[in-house]
Amino acid sequence: MNNDKYDVIIIGAGAAGMAAAIFTCRKKMKTLLVSIDIGGQNLLTEKEENYPGYTESSGTKLMKFFETQARKFGAEFVFGKASKIEKTGSNFSVQLTNKESYDCRSVIIASGKVPRSLGIPGEDKFFGRGVITCSSLQPQEFKGKIVAVIGGGNSAVEAADAISEFSSKTYLIHRRDAFRADEVTVENVRKKGRVEFILNNVPVEIRGDKSVESLIIEDVKTAAKKEINVNFVLVEIGLMVDIRFANGLVKTNEQNEIVVNESCETSCKGIFAAGDITNVPYKQTVISAGLGATAGLSVYNYIMKLDGKTGAKFDW
Ligand SMILES: Cc1cc2nc3c(=O)[nH]c(=O)nc-3n(C[C@H](O)[C@H](O)[C@H](O)COP(=O)(O)OP(=O)(O)OC[C@H]3O[C@@H](n4cnc5c(N)ncnc54)[C@H](O)[C@@H]3O)c2cc1C
Repeated sequence: MNNDKYDVIIIGAGAAGMAAAIFTCRKKMKTLLVSIDIGGQNLLTEKEENYPGYTESSGTKLMKFFETQARKFGAEFVFGKASKIEKTGSNFSVQLTNKESYDCRSVIIASGKVPRSLGIPGEDKFFGRGVITCSSLQPQEFKGKIVAVIGGGNSAVEAADAISEFSSKTYLIHRRDAFRADEVTVENVRKKGRVEFILNNVPVEIRGDKSVESLIIEDVKTAAKKEINVNFVLVEIGLMVDIRFANGLVKTNEQNEIVVNESCETSCKGIFAAGDITNVPYKQTVISAGLGATAGLSVYNYIMKLDGKTGAKFDW
């Protein structure tokens, strides 16, 4: 194997990416995981009861086991966001938004789903410092602050409820005239009277100098705009697939998921995909882990073939 470059770069260190790394590393393939975080969506899961072998675990704890196991077999990790995969002959380079670049012989895309963004002015400017996604802060951290939660599903309503216990004021802003969240959940929050519901409104701009100071919302029926003072904007509008970094190299379906075959091969030779990012149904941790293992073993066979060797069948 070529020591100048990685045999495989795995984009994403969630269940799929880290499972893939365990399998590639155990085959002595030089493996690098490039990821924004370690754990992925599981970091948002308080209680995971359906991962076989663990009757109950927090997603964070489960992912720590994955990480420990991947590191034990030699996986390297680098924090960063992949911005581009470039194909040169049969090799690839994975570029990061911080301009770092890593070369490899194969790629596994395991980038799952990322929080959907609002796409409005001010969002990028204050991202991570006033604009946050998927409750990346504990409710206590909003003590005495004014918070606008955007969204209409269970996550948004539950987050608004939890935050309102500590905040000085909590708004729940939703674009429709009814929430998607379970009626019981909404009723429960309404009864407590701590959250102000603003329906039929969308956020259009986040304003501030050094920190978030206000949010402009627009009535979807009348187009009337209103400015409300806020310190935090919590965006809880679900998750989405974002594979702009793959730059049209791989075939996707209408949901923008990467189309794979049963060996997790994509339409591009040398690029594999695993987990929630693929068109495989049922987005669950155990399924992502299984697909990661499949992709890892497929990468091994791919590299063996490149080196003129026979791959393995992995069939006892
Ligand atoms: C609130 C919630 C509760 C859930 N509860 C359960 C449950 O109880 N049981 C269950 O089985 N499943 C549950 N799921 C689903 C489960 O979490 C997912 O199916 C699983 O995490 C998918 O794993 P993955 O590795 O495919 O993707 P992800 O977990 O999404 O991991 C993707 C990784 O890629 C990284 N990444 C993304 N883009 C880039 C980029 N451009 N560059 C570098 N890195 C990138 C991310 O940072 C992350 O580390 C839940 C999901 C949520 C959101």
